[in-house]
Amino acid sequence: MMLRRNFPKALCIGLTLVIAVNILLGFYTKGTLQSLIVGMVHRDLPLPLAEWDGAVIKRLSHLEVELQHLKETMKWSMKRQENVNNTLKQAMEAMASETQHKFHKKLFPDSQLFKEWGEGLSEAQQKKAQDLFQKFGYNVYLSNQLPLNRTILDTRDSRCLQKTYSSQLPSLSVILIFMNEALSVIERAITSIINRTPSQVLKEIILVDDFSSNGELKTPLNKKIKFYNQKYPGLLKIIRHNKRRGLAQSRNTGWEAATADVVAILDAHIEVNIRWAEPILARIQEDRTVIVSPVFDNIRFDTFNLQKYGLAIDGFNWELWCRYDSLPQTWLDLHDATAPVKSPSIMGIFAADRLFLGEIGVLDGGMLVYGGENVELSLRVWQCGGKIEILPCSRIAHLERHHKPYAMDLSIALKRNALRVAEIWMDEHKHMVYLAWNVPLENSGIDYGDISSRKALREKLKCKTFDWYLKNVYPVLKPIHSIVGYGRMKNTLDESICLDQGPVPGKSPIMYYCHTFSPQNVYYHLTGEFYVGALTAETDSEEHCLTDPGKGEKPTLEPCSKAAKNGLYIYWNFKLGGAVINRTTKRCLEIKKDTSGTYVPVLQTCTTQVWKIQHTIRDWGSN
Ligand code: UDP
Ligand code: MN
Repeated sequence: MMLRRNFPKALCIGLTLVIAVNILLGFYTKGTLQSLIVGMVHRDLPLPLAEWDGAVIKRLSHLEVELQHLKETMKWSMKRQENVNNTLKQAMEAMASETQHKFHKKLFPDSQLFKEWGEGLSEAQQKKAQDLFQKFGYNVYLSNQLPLNRTILDTRDSRCLQKTYSSQLPSLSVILIFMNEALSVIERAITSIINRTPSQVLKEIILVDDFSSNGELKTPLNKKIKFYNQKYPGLLKIIRHNKRRGLAQSRNTGWEAATADVVAILDAHIEVNIRWAEPILARIQEDRTVIVSPVFDNIRFDTFNLQKYGLAIDGFNWELWCRYDSLPQTWLDLHDATAPVKSPSIMGIFAADRLFLGEIGVLDGGMLVYGGENVELSLRVWQCGGKIEILPCSRIAHLERHHKPYAMDLSIALKRNALRVAEIWMDEHKHMVYLAWNVPLENSGIDYGDISSRKALREKLKCKTFDWYLKNVYPVLKPIHSIVGYGRMKNTLDESICLDQGPVPGKSPIMYYCHTFSPQNVYYHLTGEFYVGALTAETDSEEHCLTDPGKGEKPTLEPCSKAAKNGLYIYWNFKLGGAVINRTTKRCLEIKKDTSGTYVPVLQTCTTQVWKIQHTIRDWGSN
């Protein structure tokens, strides 16, 4: 940020000065000329005629003097201007060279890596850092210089410091999975685990390499493991996949190799914080059916600084992307900042009783690449008799990468894995995942793999329904059963454009070239509402409803429940391939070209315009 802002600013001030001085000089020169000319005319007029002849010579010689003076003045001012220009040029050169000396030339002004970091790096260093950043998604250049045993801020609540734990805690296997991670980052994770876990409980650290191609992770990593094992015999193990299996299978591989009472399954880009393990081991010792998650802080991908995160519970939306939800009132009422918090889900990293985890089916090995496996485990744990808790006194710093080395677009894998979760676990509410991803309920064309063994597991474990889970564990997530049409909404006048929620933040829908992103998701309810934009279906963030404000020709988007409460006109009649008519005002949603020739949505007396919506549910709209 510093770099990017200061350099152009310096340039900008320099240019302003040059222009200002030039204008002043211009005025000055012009003023001199003017006063000379005006002066001549003035002095001409009052002379009596008799004196004219003699005066002419005098006058001419005077004029000559004046001209000479003018010439001198012009020469002087030109020289002065030149001098000022030179001085400015020198000043700017000095500024530029100072800037260059301080910052060097900024080679990647748009790279996120250099927004807050990288001052003083030479061009070659910048190139190297940027190269590593692109490859790994974080600042490997910096990581390679930071100490492996660096101290990080103790982010626990002070009341955690007073906690004492039994000296007879269960033993622990720590599993670190990775795919093309920087060696220094893996080593820092290992070092933090060795230094911050009581040696009597730490049985092993199992590394799972999900078929990395990075050369550093071959012989150099093997050498490091040997070195650690000389110091701590038998502590480190490594298992290498001979093809890419994705994160769920990598975690399962680690679990299969583990031998301790408890497994903690972590990413390899973490640093565990002080006394992270004790609360985990103590809680699992107390109750073997609880799956626990530490609280995460963030290691910034650019500066590697620790960013403290507040305590929250781990939730997810209908696309099954994880999100943080607010703490439950029942926990707040305890007034104990150290008490475990019941959570509907885990983010990914977790710890569990090794055997209990096996009994309930570890992770779904049918999940590919990334995502979904955390929600699958969460639903299974809750629906099949376990529970999930966040432990406020256990903290792990996790590096949130800027981008992933294994997939440019995570949504492809997440969408597919999400459908898998929906099909195995969500019963009559599974359509919500299809709706959120804007996928047709039948013939989606997405292959979510064979789910028969997971369904058999559900039978075997006699698991409760998803409806039970929603009502008892995660009431914030609300299923909707009144939606009958969803997807892109097109007016047949021009089917290249779609109804769109418009610029955010804003409340005016627009017509925009059709694309595949959620601002163009539209949901029509049998009850008459049109939701426009992403489906959230949670209590505290709201869908927006297409509204007839009653006057003017522009439709608006209003938060639905507020609009309903305030009696706004949010209910519409619509049939596939028919008009969109407001139930109260009787006006139609139509499109019209504005003065620039662009189609805009308008509310007007119905003409003959009709609309289509991309997907339908059940038999709605079939006649
Ligand atoms: N991972 C893996 N194989 C894959 C994709 C991911 O082993 O094909 C690992 C990855 O190296 C990381 C963990 O899965 O240790 C979680 O992935 P990531 O850290 O990218 O996800 P995030 O923590 O950002 O959700
Ligand atoms: Mn991660």
